[in-house]
Amino acid sequence: MGRGAVIRITDHLFRFDNGDGCATYLIRDRARAIVIDPGRCEWIDQLPRLGIETLEAIYLTHHHHEQLQGLYDLKRLPCTVHAPADDRRFIEPGPERFGDSRDLLLGDGCPASYAPPRRGIRSVAFDVVPNSDHYRLGRRIRFLHTPGHGSAAVSILFDIDGMQVVFSGDAVHHGGTVWEPFHLETDHWTGAGALAAWEGIERLRGVRIDLLCPSHGPVVRRAIGPTLRRLSRRLLRFYHAKGQISPRVADRYVPTEALGCGAVRISPHLFQFGSNGYLVVADSGRALVVDPCGADMAALSALRAELGNPEVARCTATHYHLDHCDAADRLREDFGAEVVLHERVSWPLWPPERHRILRAPWLPPSPVRADIELRGDGTFTWEGIDFEYFAAPGQTWWHAALIARIDGRRVLFSGDTIQPSSRWNGTGGFCAYNRSRLREGFVPTCKRLLRCKPDVVAAGHGTVFFFDRRKFVLIARWARTAERAVKALCPSRRPGEYYRWPATP
Ligand SMILES: [Zn+2]
Ligand SMILES: [Zn+2]
Repeated sequence: MGRGAVIRITDHLFRFDNGDGCATYLIRDRARAIVIDPGRCEWIDQLPRLGIETLEAIYLTHHHHEQLQGLYDLKRLPCTVHAPADDRRFIEPGPERFGDSRDLLLGDGCPASYAPPRRGIRSVAFDVVPNSDHYRLGRRIRFLHTPGHGSAAVSILFDIDGMQVVFSGDAVHHGGTVWEPFHLETDHWTGAGALAAWEGIERLRGVRIDLLCPSHGPVVRRAIGPTLRRLSRRLLRFYHAKGQISPRVADRYVPTEALGCGAVRISPHLFQFGSNGYLVVADSGRALVVDPCGADMAALSALRAELGNPEVARCTATHYHLDHCDAADRLREDFGAEVVLHERVSWPLWPPERHRILRAPWLPPSPVRADIELRGDGTFTWEGIDFEYFAAPGQTWWHAALIARIDGRRVLFSGDTIQPSSRWNGTGGFCAYNRSRLREGFVPTCKRLLRCKPDVVAAGHGTVFFFDRRKFVLIARWARTAERAVKALCPSRRPGEYYRWPATP
């Protein structure tokens, strides 16, 4: 199906392929027609050739840029455009939304939409409501809620030439897959988006479908039931992959001593303060902060006061998320602390030109410069304490780990990749937007930790627990299974399709 060609699917149903956009479907009844997902709108010129004099309506299955990009430049809409009611916030013009569509892309965790329209469109009717009807071309049209490409996405049912035809948008793709499956990630760590998509597919499975017309990929004429069943299973597998990563491993917290200031003493030279920070105090009285976060600075002051105000001589961060590094500059200014970052961690943070254009969750508002950049794997000694460092991708690719020998124990500072099983499913989550990597990320990180066997894990967000080999064997196994679940959803069966968004500068 070449770009620009009109393909007749049945007597009254046509498909128009919009090149790099989505497929547009046109339903004709004598000289009247309705269109589903206008895409680049290049089909408008073909209407006279198809004998169409009146365009009755245009329907959108969802708000994505590809579905409606041709509407931006039309002086006047050729007819009423109907869109899902809950997609109003993306489609309606509004300077606060469309002055910079990055606003919609830079949510805290995941963006509200991975593909918002680049410009607002006026006069759209937001009257497509699941389970309601419209009457067009003398027939009843029904809408089913099939979230996935946006939470408001619908499938549209239409009787055409004696067949029950479903226009499914991007809810289902040929072969029981999902076009650009990262759209299912409505938050950074749960499978909520996948579960919503699964419900939508189950809804479709209950409907008689003679012809399935998706927005991307070919029309599905045969084995529609098995296609939907396969997708339903794959979505559940993906949902489970978003769950527990080290099932039933005991948390085994390290006993700590509560201090008057609210911080805790883990061992004579190691403290945890605020939500994320660790303080290592050397015998010299100088201190090193791991994961300095602005919100934790008052807790750090209180802890320092209780310890006789040790000078903060160094700080480092396990990863680029703002709650792990946004106070690095402040420590440099207040104490002259050296900021030491692994190259993986500093990549999104510096130089400012990269930091400014990067689309990534929880990027600190200001760039962060390292005074000392650690490369690859290595060791250093600071104030008599030996440190090992290495890249530790997992929750995000831009993640590193440190192991320090403190008070006779090897303490791993592991950031957000690993958590006790009772918290956040044992991890800080995985999602494409956060540049999580499964086989290339969690697996080598686990292998590395199994080799170097720390005694204690000092994880992000204040949990300190004993290292358990079994946990890391299970996480490596989970990561392989999770990647298979991701791959199965990709139309190309290559996980790169899932990981490819957003493009990294
Ligand atoms: Zn889409
Ligand atoms: Zn994080």
